[in-house]
Amino acid sequence: MPRYGMVVDLRKCIGCQSCVVACKSEHNAPSGILQTNVLEKEVGKFPNSVRIFLPVLCNHCDKPTCVDVCPTEATYKRDDGLVMIIFDKCIGCGACVEHCPYHARVLVGDNRTLFPDGKTVFEKPVYEKILSNVAVKCDFCHFRIDKGLEPACVQVCPTGSRIFGDLSDREGKLARLVRDYKGWPMLPEKGTEPSVYYIG
Ligand code: SF4
Ligand code: SF4
Repeated sequence: MPRYGMVVDLRKCIGCQSCVVACKSEHNAPSGILQTNVLEKEVGKFPNSVRIFLPVLCNHCDKPTCVDVCPTEATYKRDDGLVMIIFDKCIGCGACVEHCPYHARVLVGDNRTLFPDGKTVFEKPVYEKILSNVAVKCDFCHFRIDKGLEPACVQVCPTGSRIFGDLSDREGKLARLVRDYKGWPMLPEKGTEPSVYYIG
Protein backbone atom coordinates (compact mmCIF):
# COMPACT_ATOMS: atom_id res chain seq x y z
CA MET A 1 0.00 0.00 0.00
CA PRO A 2 1.46 3.42 -0.92
CA ARG A 3 1.77 6.31 1.48
CA TYR A 4 1.21 9.33 -0.70
CA GLY A 5 3.12 12.48 0.08
CA MET A 6 4.80 15.51 -1.39
CA VAL A 7 8.21 17.13 -1.42
CA VAL A 8 8.30 20.90 -1.84
CA ASP A 9 11.62 22.16 -3.18
CA LEU A 10 11.94 25.67 -1.77
CA ARG A 11 14.98 26.36 -3.94
CA LYS A 12 12.78 26.21 -7.02
CA CYS A 13 9.60 28.03 -5.94
CA ILE A 14 9.31 31.43 -7.67
CA GLY A 15 6.06 32.43 -5.97
CA CYS A 16 4.06 32.56 -9.21
CA GLN A 17 0.92 31.22 -7.43
CA SER A 18 0.05 28.93 -10.38
CA CYS A 19 -0.51 26.09 -7.90
CA VAL A 20 -2.93 28.19 -5.86
CA VAL A 21 -4.99 29.08 -8.95
CA ALA A 22 -4.96 25.50 -10.26
CA CYS A 23 -6.14 24.19 -6.89
CA LYS A 24 -8.94 26.72 -6.69
CA SER A 25 -10.08 25.95 -10.20
CA GLU A 26 -9.84 22.17 -9.78
CA HIS A 27 -11.91 22.22 -6.59
CA ASN A 28 -14.33 24.94 -7.58
CA ALA A 29 -13.42 26.61 -4.29
CA PRO A 30 -15.75 29.38 -3.11
CA SER A 31 -14.69 33.01 -2.92
CA GLY A 32 -12.03 33.58 -0.26
CA ILE A 33 -11.30 29.88 0.24
CA LEU A 34 -7.79 28.58 -0.46
CA GLN A 35 -6.93 24.89 -0.03
CA THR A 36 -3.26 25.55 -0.69
CA ASN A 37 -1.33 28.78 -0.48
CA VAL A 38 2.10 30.25 -1.10
CA LEU A 39 3.24 32.46 1.76
CA GLU A 40 5.69 35.25 1.00
CA LYS A 41 8.14 37.22 3.09
CA GLU A 42 10.84 39.76 2.33
CA VAL A 43 14.02 39.12 4.26
CA GLY A 44 16.81 41.67 4.69
CA LYS A 45 16.92 45.34 3.79
CA PHE A 46 16.79 46.76 0.26
CA PRO A 47 18.93 46.53 -1.87
CA ASN A 48 20.22 43.43 -0.11
CA SER A 49 16.81 41.87 0.49
CA VAL A 50 15.37 38.66 -0.93
CA ARG A 51 11.78 37.47 -1.18
CA ILE A 52 11.18 33.94 0.05
CA PHE A 53 8.19 31.75 -0.81
CA LEU A 54 6.67 28.95 1.23
CA PRO A 55 4.00 26.73 -0.36
CA VAL A 56 1.67 25.34 2.33
CA LEU A 57 -1.05 22.70 2.25
CA CYS A 58 -2.54 19.92 4.34
CA ASN A 59 0.31 17.63 5.40
CA HIS A 60 -1.82 14.48 5.21
CA CYS A 61 -0.37 13.57 8.58
CA ASP A 62 0.16 9.95 9.54
CA LYS A 63 -1.17 10.86 13.01
CA PRO A 64 -3.69 13.59 12.18
CA THR A 65 -5.19 15.53 15.06
CA CYS A 66 -8.09 16.54 12.80
CA VAL A 67 -9.22 12.91 12.59
CA ASP A 68 -9.00 12.49 16.38
CA VAL A 69 -11.22 15.48 17.14
CA CYS A 70 -13.91 15.11 14.45
CA PRO A 71 -17.13 14.14 16.27
CA THR A 72 -18.91 12.72 13.23
CA GLU A 73 -16.10 10.78 11.50
CA ALA A 74 -16.45 13.14 8.55
CA THR A 75 -12.67 13.37 8.61
CA TYR A 76 -10.83 10.12 8.12
CA LYS A 77 -7.54 8.72 6.82
CA ARG A 78 -7.44 6.44 3.80
CA ASP A 79 -5.17 3.39 3.73
CA ASP A 80 -2.91 5.20 1.26
CA GLY A 81 -2.43 8.07 3.74
CA LEU A 82 -4.79 10.66 2.30
CA VAL A 83 -6.74 12.54 4.96
CA MET A 84 -10.22 13.15 3.61
CA ILE A 85 -13.48 14.95 4.46
CA ILE A 86 -16.93 13.53 3.71
CA PHE A 87 -19.00 16.67 3.19
CA ASP A 88 -22.32 14.94 3.87
CA LYS A 89 -21.12 13.96 7.34
CA CYS A 90 -19.47 17.30 8.22
CA ILE A 91 -21.53 19.48 10.58
CA GLY A 92 -19.23 22.48 10.29
CA CYS A 93 -18.36 22.51 13.99
CA GLY A 94 -14.80 23.66 13.25
CA ALA A 95 -13.08 21.32 15.74
CA CYS A 96 -10.64 20.16 13.04
CA VAL A 97 -9.93 23.75 12.02
CA GLU A 98 -9.10 24.61 15.65
CA HIS A 99 -6.90 21.58 16.24
CA CYS A 100 -4.85 21.43 13.03
CA PRO A 101 -1.41 22.70 14.09
CA TYR A 102 -0.76 23.89 10.53
CA HIS A 103 -3.92 25.95 9.97
CA ALA A 104 -4.46 23.78 6.90
CA ARG A 105 -8.27 23.81 7.13
CA VAL A 106 -10.91 26.47 6.63
CA LEU A 107 -14.64 26.51 7.13
CA VAL A 108 -16.82 27.35 4.17
CA GLY A 109 -19.72 29.53 5.32
CA ASP A 110 -21.88 30.06 2.30
CA ASN A 111 -20.98 28.61 -1.08
CA ARG A 112 -22.99 30.84 -3.35
CA THR A 113 -22.04 32.03 -6.82
CA LEU A 114 -20.56 35.50 -7.11
CA PHE A 115 -22.35 36.04 -10.39
CA PRO A 116 -26.01 37.13 -10.63
CA ASP A 117 -26.70 35.02 -13.72
CA GLY A 118 -25.70 31.77 -12.04
CA LYS A 119 -22.57 29.70 -11.96
CA THR A 120 -19.91 30.21 -14.61
CA VAL A 121 -18.12 27.31 -16.24
CA PHE A 122 -15.23 27.93 -13.82
CA GLU A 123 -17.53 27.44 -10.84
CA LYS A 124 -18.65 24.00 -11.96
CA PRO A 125 -17.02 21.32 -9.81
CA VAL A 126 -14.58 18.96 -11.47
CA TYR A 127 -15.28 16.27 -8.92
CA GLU A 128 -17.57 17.15 -6.05
CA LYS A 129 -19.45 20.30 -5.10
CA ILE A 130 -18.20 21.90 -1.91
CA LEU A 131 -21.23 22.37 0.32
CA SER A 132 -21.94 25.28 2.66
CA ASN A 133 -20.96 24.97 6.34
CA VAL A 134 -18.26 22.35 5.87
CA ALA A 135 -14.51 22.21 6.47
CA VAL A 136 -12.21 22.07 3.43
CA LYS A 137 -8.51 21.57 2.83
CA CYS A 138 -6.09 20.05 0.33
CA ASP A 139 -7.16 16.54 -0.69
CA PHE A 140 -4.14 15.84 -2.93
CA CYS A 141 -6.70 15.90 -5.81
CA HIS A 142 -7.69 12.33 -4.90
CA PHE A 143 -10.02 12.21 -7.91
CA ARG A 144 -6.95 12.76 -10.11
CA ILE A 145 -4.47 10.45 -8.38
CA ASP A 146 -7.06 7.66 -8.32
CA LYS A 147 -6.87 7.91 -12.13
CA GLY A 148 -3.07 7.87 -12.17
CA LEU A 149 -2.73 11.65 -12.62
CA GLU A 150 -0.77 14.06 -10.44
CA PRO A 151 -2.42 16.69 -8.22
CA ALA A 152 -3.26 19.83 -10.20
CA CYS A 153 -0.73 21.95 -8.28
CA VAL A 154 2.06 19.53 -9.22
CA GLN A 155 1.06 19.44 -12.86
CA VAL A 156 1.01 23.21 -13.31
CA CYS A 157 4.11 24.16 -11.30
CA PRO A 158 6.44 25.62 -13.95
CA THR A 159 9.62 24.94 -11.95
CA GLY A 160 8.87 21.46 -10.61
CA SER A 161 8.89 22.75 -7.06
CA ARG A 162 6.08 20.39 -5.98
CA ILE A 163 6.85 16.69 -6.34
CA PHE A 164 4.17 14.09 -5.58
CA GLY A 165 4.75 10.39 -4.97
CA ASP A 166 4.83 7.39 -2.70
CA LEU A 167 6.81 7.89 0.52
CA SER A 168 6.75 4.17 1.29
CA ASP A 169 8.89 3.39 -1.77
CA ARG A 170 12.39 3.52 -0.27
CA GLU A 171 14.01 3.92 -3.69
CA GLY A 172 11.29 6.19 -5.10
CA LYS A 173 11.81 9.85 -6.01
CA LEU A 174 10.34 11.20 -2.77
CA ALA A 175 12.40 9.03 -0.44
CA ARG A 176 15.55 9.84 -2.42
CA LEU A 177 14.89 13.59 -2.30
CA VAL A 178 14.21 13.50 1.45
CA ARG A 179 17.34 11.41 2.04
CA ASP A 180 19.72 13.25 -0.31
CA TYR A 181 18.63 16.79 0.54
CA LYS A 182 17.80 16.35 4.22
CA GLY A 183 14.07 16.94 3.83
CA TRP A 184 12.24 18.29 6.86
CA PRO A 185 8.56 18.27 7.86
CA MET A 186 6.79 21.24 9.43
CA LEU A 187 6.49 21.33 13.22
CA PRO A 188 7.79 17.79 13.89
CA GLU A 189 7.43 18.49 17.61
CA LYS A 190 3.63 18.26 17.20
CA GLY A 191 3.95 14.50 16.63
CA THR A 192 1.58 14.44 13.66
CA GLU A 193 4.13 12.89 11.27
CA PRO A 194 3.42 14.92 8.14
CA SER A 195 3.60 13.40 4.65
CA VAL A 196 4.80 16.70 3.20
CA TYR A 197 8.54 17.39 3.34
CA TYR A 198 10.46 20.52 2.44
CA ILE A 199 13.94 20.74 0.99
CA GLY A 200 16.13 23.82 0.53
FE1 SF4 B 1 -5.18 17.14 9.59
FE2 SF4 B 1 -3.90 19.47 9.70
FE3 SF4 B 1 -2.49 17.20 9.46
FE4 SF4 B 1 -3.96 18.09 7.39
S1 SF4 B 1 -2.16 19.12 8.31
S2 SF4 B 1 -3.89 15.95 8.19
S3 SF4 B 1 -5.72 19.03 8.44
S4 SF4 B 1 -3.76 17.80 11.22
FE1 SF4 C 1 -15.61 16.92 11.57
FE2 SF4 C 1 -16.77 18.76 9.98
FE3 SF4 C 1 -16.52 19.25 12.62
FE4 SF4 C 1 -14.34 19.22 11.06
S1 SF4 C 1 -16.07 20.69 10.96
S2 SF4 C 1 -14.57 18.25 13.07
S3 SF4 C 1 -14.87 17.61 9.57
S4 SF4 C 1 -17.74 17.63 11.64
